[in-house]
Amino acid sequence: MKQNQSIYLDNAATTQMDEQVLEAMMPYLTSYYGNPSSKHSIGWSTRMAVELARNRIATLLNVKSKSIIFTSGGTESNNMAIYTALRDFGCDHIITSKVEHHAVLHSVEHYAEQFKIGVSYVKLDKDGVADQNDFSRLLEIKTAHDKKCLVTLMHANNETGNFTEIRWISSLCKKYNAIFHCDCVQTIGHYPLNLPTEGIQMASASAHKFHGPKGVGFLYVHEDLQPSALIYGGGQERGHRAGTENVASIVGMAEALQLSYKNYSKHRELISGLKNALASNLRDAFSSIVINSCGHALYSVLSVSFPYIENIEFLLIQLNQKGICVSGGSACSGGDSSHVMKELGRAGSYETIRFSFSKYNTQDEIKSVLEAMKDLLPALISQNSNQN
Ligand code: PLP
Repeated sequence: MKQNQSIYLDNAATTQMDEQVLEAMMPYLTSYYGNPSSKHSIGWSTRMAVELARNRIATLLNVKSKSIIFTSGGTESNNMAIYTALRDFGCDHIITSKVEHHAVLHSVEHYAEQFKIGVSYVKLDKDGVADQNDFSRLLEIKTAHDKKCLVTLMHANNETGNFTEIRWISSLCKKYNAIFHCDCVQTIGHYPLNLPTEGIQMASASAHKFHGPKGVGFLYVHEDLQPSALIYGGGQERGHRAGTENVASIVGMAEALQLSYKNYSKHRELISGLKNALASNLRDAFSSIVINSCGHALYSVLSVSFPYIENIEFLLIQLNQKGICVSGGSACSGGDSSHVMKELGRAGSYETIRFSFSKYNTQDEIKSVLEAMKDLLPALISQNSNQN
C-alpha cells in the first residue's frame, strides 16, 4: 500500500515533514553547501542560516539565542542535559520518574552509575503523573542531606500524553536550588511553550515530532548555566557540541517550529476534534475499554487499553492490512511491553493502542478507523474472554 493511502495515526512516533519545511531546506541541500565554520563567503552564507534558525527558535520560545544548542535530536539532548548537570552543575542526586522515555531512564541509570550518585523515583498518581506531595518530600529530604538535585521530568508523556504540572515542579526546584530538566520532545511544536515563564532550566526538543526533519533537535540551557561538551571535536556550538552543523535540517527545524506556532490554535482545534470523536465512539462501541489519556493530556495523543486481547501485535498487523498505522504503547519500545503501562497497572490483562494525530488527519479517517476496530475487535475480545 502506498504511504499516502495509509491512515497514519502514529504521530507521537514521528510526523510527516511539511512541504514548506522541505522547501526551506532545499537551498541548503543544493546551492548553499558551505561549512558554517569556513572563513569565506560560501561558509558565511550557511553560518548566517544556522544563526538565523537559532534566533527564530529562541524568539518563539522567548529565550536568548545563545541558550539553544543544536543536537541530533531528543535522545542526544536528554543525554547531554543529564550528563552535564552531573559533571558541570554540581548535581549529586537525580529525581525522576519511572514513566520517562528510555532516552531519560537509561541515561539516568548509566550516568548515575558513572558518577556514583543516587536516584529517587517520584511516586505517580493514577494517571502516571508525578505526585506533587511526594516530589516535594523527596526534594526536601535530599536538600536537607546537602544534595543538589537534578530533576528530570517530562512535559507530556509520549504514551499517554498526560501532562506534568511543570510550573509547580519548577517553583519547587527554585525553592530547593535544584536544576530542572524537562523532556519536552512531545510538546515543543505542539504547545505554546514559553520556557522562562515555565521556569525550566533545560529543555529537550526534536524536529521530527513537529513536521520537521529527523535527526535534528536542540537542547535549551538557561544562559546562566554553561555546559561543557558531550561530544568533543571542532568546538562548534560555542564549544557545547562539536561537529559540522546539519545546516539544512537546522533550517528545516526552525521553519517547522515557526509554522507550528503560527497555526497552533487552528491545528489544536482540528486535532482535538479528531481525538474526542475517536475517544467517545470507542467508548460507545467497547464499554470495557480504559482511556489512559486523562483530562489534562496533550490534544494529539489518545491511549486506549483493551481488556482480554492477548496478542496486540496481531491486531496491529490486521489494522495495518487495512492501511491503518497505529502503535501499541510507544514506537520505541521495540516489541517489549511498555514500562509506562506497567506503571499504570495495565500490564497483564490489558493491551494498549496509542492513537496519535496530526494536522494531516481527517474526520473521515477517524470513521474508517472506528469501522475497522468494530470489525476486528469483537472477535479478538470474545475469543480471549471466553477462554478466561
Ligand atoms: N523523549 C520523548 C518523550 C520522546 O517521545 C522521544 C521519541 O519518541 C524521545 C525523547 C527521543 O527523541 P528522538 O527520536 O529525537 O531521539
